[in-house]
Amino acid sequence: VNRPGTYLDYNATSPVKPAVRHAILRALEEGGNPSSIHGPGRKARVRLDEARDAVAALVGACAENVIFTSGGTEANNLAILGLTRTHAIETILVSAIEHPCVRTAAEESSIQLREVPVDKNGVLELTALKEMLDHGNGCVLLALMLANNETGVIQPLAAASEYVHAVGGLVHCDAVQAAGKIPFSIADLGVDSLALSAHKFGGPQGAGALVLAHALPLGARLLGGGQELGRRGGTENLPGIVGLGEAAQLAMADLPDYSRLAALRDDFEMRLRQETPAIVIFGEAAPRLPNTSAFAAPGVEADTLLMALDLAGIAVSSGSACSSGKVSHSHVLKAMAVPDSLARSALRVSLGWASREGDLDYFIASWRQIRAQADRARRAVPLAG
Ligand code: PLP
Repeated sequence: VNRPGTYLDYNATSPVKPAVRHAILRALEEGGNPSSIHGPGRKARVRLDEARDAVAALVGACAENVIFTSGGTEANNLAILGLTRTHAIETILVSAIEHPCVRTAAEESSIQLREVPVDKNGVLELTALKEMLDHGNGCVLLALMLANNETGVIQPLAAASEYVHAVGGLVHCDAVQAAGKIPFSIADLGVDSLALSAHKFGGPQGAGALVLAHALPLGARLLGGGQELGRRGGTENLPGIVGLGEAAQLAMADLPDYSRLAALRDDFEMRLRQETPAIVIFGEAAPRLPNTSAFAAPGVEADTLLMALDLAGIAVSSGSACSSGKVSHSHVLKAMAVPDSLARSALRVSLGWASREGDLDYFIASWRQIRAQADRARRAVPLAG
């Protein structure tokens, strides 16, 4: 059966939920600048405040500590560069698996940067962190993501935050991939700030937030008309923010659906292993997001598989979407000590709100066919030679 449009790349971007699309269209029709004091402006302000409440509720924060941004990249940049401007940070510790927007922002700060390693399952080495904190001096900022975009592996935020706070440091958490997929609150994680992005959980691209645990002083990166309490200048992207708010509200209601996705993912991995016993599933032994499966079939280039799957109408990723297109291998798999020869074969399947069992049935059937073709081609080579 051909199923054109089998989308299995939710970690790259999720399709927009219908109710979100509807809310965005309404915001576009209503118009209004939230800073205007006339009727349309006041109405726009109400919509902005409703979205702020919804985002705050998703992560258990106070609404006044939500700063709207243009997405996850800006939220992470604002946290790293904004907090280092207002705090006497002497070292930035970044986990070895952070998204490039965290890593490069830390590099841009010109503050001493140290990398905290992960183990072979992709989980932060807490003992290494503790050692760095014990032997370091001065105030530190730790950047640790909640769930990795490539493997889905969930990080020990609460323990890491406790260690860092014990020495008077700060913790920023990139929660872009975890938000709306697993339940958590900013207080449970014990972090000082966290980044969200609407398009990872059914909202639009180009809308996100930096959420502070408390009223931390933060240096603005965008200077302007005092919006977002002076922490992020520029007229707010109201349709995007309304979409983010609606998506946040729906994500809270839809969280139980992730146990359905976990069952689908687990069954998928079991069937994949039956098809290809040599398959390696990355981070399998660690706690993972329920929707993510990163794996490699030794000996077959991921890009070859990706193209064959694409021809069959299946969208997956051969690494994080932001880094696909680059020739370099995944820094995440490298940090997990995965050899390059295996990393070259790594694919990621990620599910979401519209995923159905049939999508995975079709993937498995296509996988079988593509692998059989590849085997036939391999066998044909010596004959031809
Ligand atoms: N952080 C993580 C873990 C991500 O996966 C992504 C997007 O792929 C980002 C940050 C960047 O978010 P945005 O695309 O909203 O800029």
